[in-house]
Formats: sequence, structure tokens, C-alpha cells
Amino acid sequence: MFNKYGMTYDWFMMLEVRNDDWTVETIREYLCFLDYVFETYKRDVYLNDIQFMAADVMRLLPNHRSPFHAGSYNSISLASSGDNLSCSLSRNMIVRLGDLALCPCHRLSYPHLLYGNLKTENGEITGITSNNIQFAEHCLAMNSRTSNLGCDVCKLKNICLQGCYGSQYEARKDPFITIPSVCSLFYEKTRFLLKKYEESGILNYLFNGTFGEYDRFTNKQAINRLRTIYFDLIKELTNGQ
Ligand code: SF4
Repeated sequence: MFNKYGMTYDWFMMLEVRNDDWTVETIREYLCFLDYVFETYKRDVYLNDIQFMAADVMRLLPNHRSPFHAGSYNSISLASSGDNLSCSLSRNMIVRLGDLALCPCHRLSYPHLLYGNLKTENGEITGITSNNIQFAEHCLAMNSRTSNLGCDVCKLKNICLQGCYGSQYEARKDPFITIPSVCSLFYEKTRFLLKKYEESGILNYLFNGTFGEYDRFTNKQAINRLRTIYFDLIKELTNGQ
């Protein structure tokens, strides 16, 4: 289909919908699909160059070297969680055009959660009124790994995309409490991808600490950090066996 319409893979973004409706069956079906995606990318995007694939899947390449440019999400990579939120909640400011309300995000635009409103006079913006500053402070400054109840003690917190705060609010009545069915998806996806990384040889490059010709695009510190994260993760998920 990509060839037919003259598209490259970075045009395409797949993101798991993190609603509270994942089941054992739908997760199993999703992993079958992910397997297809993994094998297709390996063959058609990375041309079976595992070293290239390993460096890209580990997010070590600069945007212009990656087949998945900034803005697209490579669904066969695990996330690299930093201290900020993985979504735009902590980075973008949204102004709702109808009433110039300052919203956390499109899915958290409930009246009591709005940060405030832009004030206007004679068709010009003249100031700001506040509504829920405490919520704004929390969204903009929170550490996603310590302020999201569940993630704070989770084995996956360094490599997880984490939940959608709007979905968590709808399902749990609190944007910062994780949804167990979504966490099941991430657990199974992580286990599945680690197995694929191992079978394909991706993990060898990481644990050997070198990505050959691709080392010049990254630095030893980044590789070492990832090695520690993956080493600990595999140990945790296999109970040290
Ligand atoms: S699996 Fe759930 S609790 Fe664990 S890091 Fe991901 S979202 Fe947070």
C-alpha cells in the first residue's frame, strides 16, 4: 500500500488506544499484528540490516538518520521514559477557539480542570483569568514516573509509553491513576518485544555496547544507560532466571 500511494513509512503512525477495554483476547490479537509489523519493518524498512534496526529501535539515531522521523511513533520500539510526561500534556498549551479556554488537552477539557481563560476586550487579548492553577502546576511539572499512581512502583516505568491521562480520568475518576487493562497491554507488549529483540539479535548489539558504524551517531553514555535499563528489565521480568 505504501508503494502504491508513494508513501514512506514515516507517514504512518500507529499508537495503541489506551482505553479501558483491552482484554486477554484483544491483546493476543494485537501482538499477532505487532509480529507482522516487526517482520515487515525488518524486511522493508531496515532491509534486514539488524545493526541499523537495533540502533533505530533503541532510539539512538538522530531524526534525519531514522526511517521514522520526529513526530511519528515506531510501534516496535519501547518508549524511553524521561521525567516529563510521554504525551503532549506537559509540553503543549491548548487554547480552545470557541471560548479561549486554556485546556490541559483535548481529552481533559472538563470545566473544573481548565487552567483558565484568555481575557479579551474589543477583540484583543488583554489578560488571563485562572481556573485550576493547581491542576496546571501538576500537569506541567509532574514527574511521570513518580506522580502517576502505579507507575511509581512499576518495573516498566523506564520504558513504558504510560497511560493516557484523559482515559485514566474517565476510567478511574483521577487522571493520575493507571488502568490495569492498559498496564496488561504494556506488560505483554514489553515481553513480546524483548523476545523479538532477542531472537533478531538486536539485544546482542545493545549488550555488546556497540552498534558498529552507527556508534558515531550516538554516545557511549546513551548506550550504557540503555544497557542498564534493559538488563534490569529482563532480570525483573524473568525473576532473575
Ligand atoms: S505498565 Fe502501567 S503502571 Fe507500569 S509504567 Fe506502564 S502505565 Fe505505568
